[in-house]
Amino acid sequence: SPHLGILGGGQLAQMLALAALPLGVRVTVLEPDILAPARLCATHLHAPYTDAAGLDALAGCDAVTLEFENVPVEVLTALEGRVPVRPERALLERSKHRAHEKEALQEAGARTAPFVVIETEANLDGALERVGRQGILKTSELGYDGKGQSRVSDAAGLQSAWDELGRVPCVLEGLVQFEREVSLAVARGPDGALAFGPLIENVHRNGILRTSLFLEGDPHEAQAREIAGRVAGAWGLEGLMTLEFFGLPEGELLVNEVAPRVHNSGHLTQDGGGVSQFDAQVRAVLGLPLADWRPLHPCAMVNIIGAEGKTPDWAGIDALPGTRLHLYHKAWRAGRKLGHVNLVTADEQTLRARLSQLETLIP
Ligand code: ATP
Ligand code: MG
Ligand code: MG
Repeated sequence: SPHLGILGGGQLAQMLALAALPLGVRVTVLEPDILAPARLCATHLHAPYTDAAGLDALAGCDAVTLEFENVPVEVLTALEGRVPVRPERALLERSKHRAHEKEALQEAGARTAPFVVIETEANLDGALERVGRQGILKTSELGYDGKGQSRVSDAAGLQSAWDELGRVPCVLEGLVQFEREVSLAVARGPDGALAFGPLIENVHRNGILRTSLFLEGDPHEAQAREIAGRVAGAWGLEGLMTLEFFGLPEGELLVNEVAPRVHNSGHLTQDGGGVSQFDAQVRAVLGLPLADWRPLHPCAMVNIIGAEGKTPDWAGIDALPGTRLHLYHKAWRAGRKLGHVNLVTADEQTLRARLSQLETLIP
């Protein structure tokens, strides 16, 4: 049976491994944390990413993918020529660096928020004026769940944000007055054939994803597919990546960022019926047949995030028809993603009503 290697053993690896098994695929993860979620459903190579024996084991797989893009670049170099790594190194390096990513998006013909690259103190001069009245300073590397970013509205605020973020390379983005946020995944097989996931609407709270929603016939779907297909082709994608978009009031989509993998917003595809984003990544990476995937029913997802002094109403969640719980076997910590609840219904009206109820059950 095909053997898939994964760099990283977090919840995305856990769910990739769970999807791989019924496809006849077994999974090995390389993950330094002994308590990582994927340890329970995949072979766990418990070692640093740079460990020679660990990398030898991954090199023996049919293909390697990742669930965590911040692996040291020498790990990707060490695997090069020994096993297909999908997405490949150049794409990963681009997508883990905000400034490079935005430049490469624009080169591919996709629009982004206005931005200025900030690498030295001198770059702060006049930067805010160039992106608009308000902006967000983001570290170019290592940020996730809204960490490593700070909103600014004047020159003094920009200076202190730069100091607080540690004077590391950053991008200053103009604050986008978006109407909505959406995301869409695209997969590209080794033969260049494209397949797309559904258009999903997302709501964030404090920079962290709270709720995702899928409804058939989203007006932004065609535009998002066109942009995602263009970027996937221009970047020579092999495997799967997910684009996050800002939808402007005039209807145009700007690309916020790209995740070179499955995405939190796509978790609802686990329970909406049909092929999930996890199936899709496994298939795309191993070169197995893959067509567009989308839920068969209206569905949504609410993240379970560690909240001080509060726990979800577990019984209430179970009592709500159409819910399904997914937990990540992680220790509780405030602000940490611990699991999610998917919700599936027969029609849109019921989905919206039950989703509001579900949100009250999850603090
Ligand atoms: P993750 O990788 O977990 O999605 P992140 O730390 O990379 O998060 P971003 O996606 O850059 O963070 O931003 C998080 C959220 O903050 C966005 O989804 C959006 O709601 C808001 N945000 C980010 N950049 C902008 C912007 N330029 N204008 C308006 N809102 C923004
Ligand atoms: Mg991000
Ligand atoms: Mg994001």
